[in-house]
Amino acid sequence: MGSRLGRMGRKLGEWIPPGVAQILAEGFGRPAAVFFHGVEPVTLDSDVQVNHHEAPVFRAIMAELQRNFDVLPVTLLDEALCHPEHHRRTVFLMSDDGYANTLSTAAPILEELELPWTLFVSTHHIDTRDRNPVFLARLFFCCMPAGRYEVPHLPALELEGPETREAMTQAGTACLHGLDMDRANEAVAAMVKALEQAGLASLIERFSSESFLTWPQVRELKRRGVEIGAHAHWHWPLNAAQTAAQLREQARRPRQRIEAEIGPCRYFAYPFGNTGDVSRAGWQAVRDAGYEAAFTTVTGTPEVEQNRFLLPRYGIGPDETHLASLIPLLSAGNRRLMRWQKELAA
Ligand SMILES: [Zn+2]
Repeated sequence: MGSRLGRMGRKLGEWIPPGVAQILAEGFGRPAAVFFHGVEPVTLDSDVQVNHHEAPVFRAIMAELQRNFDVLPVTLLDEALCHPEHHRRTVFLMSDDGYANTLSTAAPILEELELPWTLFVSTHHIDTRDRNPVFLARLFFCCMPAGRYEVPHLPALELEGPETREAMTQAGTACLHGLDMDRANEAVAAMVKALEQAGLASLIERFSSESFLTWPQVRELKRRGVEIGAHAHWHWPLNAAQTAAQLREQARRPRQRIEAEIGPCRYFAYPFGNTGDVSRAGWQAVRDAGYEAAFTTVTGTPEVEQNRFLLPRYGIGPDETHLASLIPLLSAGNRRLMRWQKELAA
């Protein structure tokens, strides 16, 4: 979420009156894909619960989406890619990770507004209910008492007062992202061990927003019409730091688990999904695992000539108030997207 182009588009969107946005969409609109993560009735700490919209805000954003666009199921992706002139107002709505609150809070809102959506789940977290590694790292950086900490595979960490914590969190999570999943797992396990002495149980309880769905709950969403896709097995980037075996596992295993528990799994969304989070070997592993298409979080609009395993999506901001004006501008990201796709070409 929050590429420079996305932020610029958001700013521009604020200045375009809705009537003009309508004309823009009718003349230049392209099918678009947008996504959110979780939806909570109320969030307690926006530094920690970065992935969750508050329900009233989410409802308003979704109502705006419903008024201004045709939200269609992702199974119509090929039809939209082949006939974009018939899909100027088409939007595909998606949710990443598989938080429990997508069933309790998001689904009723989306059902009331009759908006179809796709849920991408990270299957290790549905299997085990283990929290997202980046959430655990955020807890470590935000909540551990000030002091010096040794974490495997990371430089020595000096945690200070609250004013430097956000910068530490950014730098620390960036370092983690540069590790392959086994090393990252060891680093996160050490953070969890330290957090256990600092009251992890009460933090987990306080931030129940971060709990994942169970398989019966994913089945319930499927029964209610939600398309279920894969978001890797462990919630980790498919970037250049990963080995070929790790990439294969991250691409194949979630499809096998979803097909065993739910049914056909046709689509994939990359965890984090920005340009640094997907390598050439990463998208090829996803292609080879048998998916029909895969989505990044790079800004743009999906086009038939693009690599269908590196399609763009736009992350809906926590208080996105001008989505209707913004969506018609998303195609401005396509040149950058195409340059990146060329760099990763086979
Ligand atoms: Zn994710």
